[in-house]
Amino acid sequence: MSAVDINSRDDLRELYRELILDHARSPRHFGKLDDATHTAEGINPLCGDKLRLYLRLDEENRIDAATFEGSGCAISVASASVMTDTVIGLDVSVALEYFRAVTRRLTDPGQDHGDNLDLEKIMAFDGVHEFPSRIKCATLAWHALNCAIHEQTKPASTE
Ligand code: ZN
Repeated sequence: MSAVDINSRDDLRELYRELILDHARSPRHFGKLDDATHTAEGINPLCGDKLRLYLRLDEENRIDAATFEGSGCAISVASASVMTDTVIGLDVSVALEYFRAVTRRLTDPGQDHGDNLDLEKIMAFDGVHEFPSRIKCATLAWHALNCAIHEQTKPASTE
């Protein structure tokens, strides 16, 4: 991406659109994780997005694997792909910091968000703020992450 000269908001938007489409077309970490230690379902009835998230935590409470399966709109799939990419290798406490920062950022982009976190890829989803119904598509996977870590048995729902 460094070869691209980002000098206008439109260029940025185009890059972000590309990132979302790329992750939606070829989601990372897609599939079932047979030795998952934590799992949660996410449902966004407004859009019809559905996913199941699988996490494998090691003895030190680090996420050493994360996968998801399911179906939904491009934003929900891309967001789940970026989310799994982001949290693999993180301590669960840091992953939860990301959850809080991302959900804050996507619901209220005017605020300051997660100083020590790398939110560069998450910024690709900032545009959803202009379409409030899509915010739930973008945050669904993150809510599932929160549920899986807390081992809630009820499905994560955006409603
Ligand atoms: Zn959706």
